[in-house]
Amino acid sequence: MEKKVLRNMQVLKDEGVQFGCITVLSRLNAPYIEDIYHFFEEIDTSFRLLPIYRTGYPMQQEGLALTNTEIVDSLKKVIVLWLASETDIQVLPIQDYITHVVRRLNGRDRWRRYYDKTEAEVVYIVDTDGSLYSNADAYDFQLCHGNIFEEPLVCMEKSEKYLRAVEAAHNRMRATCGSCHFYGACSGYFMAEATPEQREYDQEGHLLCNVVQPLQDFIEEILVCSGIVEGDLLLRGRMMERAGAPFTA
Ligand code: SF4
Repeated sequence: MEKKVLRNMQVLKDEGVQFGCITVLSRLNAPYIEDIYHFFEEIDTSFRLLPIYRTGYPMQQEGLALTNTEIVDSLKKVIVLWLASETDIQVLPIQDYITHVVRRLNGRDRWRRYYDKTEAEVVYIVDTDGSLYSNADAYDFQLCHGNIFEEPLVCMEKSEKYLRAVEAAHNRMRATCGSCHFYGACSGYFMAEATPEQREYDQEGHLLCNVVQPLQDFIEEILVCSGIVEGDLLLRGRMMERAGAPFTA
């Protein structure tokens, strides 16, 4: 880690200022994923692992981006370390994935929630000229909501391009989440807001949830096999699930 960053983190610690960190996961640091986890564990600081997926200009991330399989392999190592650790640091997105798994095992009907862009956008991306985009569509002018310097949000939400972005996001959820056993416990946000770089298709052209779903399956297997999840909790979850969850987006 950059010496200057370490110095500044120490200043924050000395002054009692709470902070978290983001580690951009790339081909360069993925081999050191365990060291990265232990570093944050040692300094008792929560952090987020953000696989590199979008940069400022074309070719900038050439040679740095990991495949979905490599991302899954790296995050699995962190999941194992975090579950075995005594520390209570938060590690995103793993914490979110564990929450989804526990919700599913606890009966997703009790927690059912679905991502719906028309109710609320979670992340806006604003270009320097004021153009507004959803996370999934940044800088694609065909899916631009409008311009924050020229019109209020309420008008942009009626624009043709925004509605096109909403439809595309809901189509991605329909293609993947509709048949996913986590849907309802997991809102489907990850597929709705997957950027073009994050979208992966099989040979027939079907969109795949190739990071979140396998990681949640991995977590569920650990929780169940280790006996952390009690039998009745598991049974209740499965029975609720049998009732099915219709796609509502
Ligand atoms: S397909 Fe992926 S994003 Fe959709 S509900 Fe399943 S795990 Fe969540």
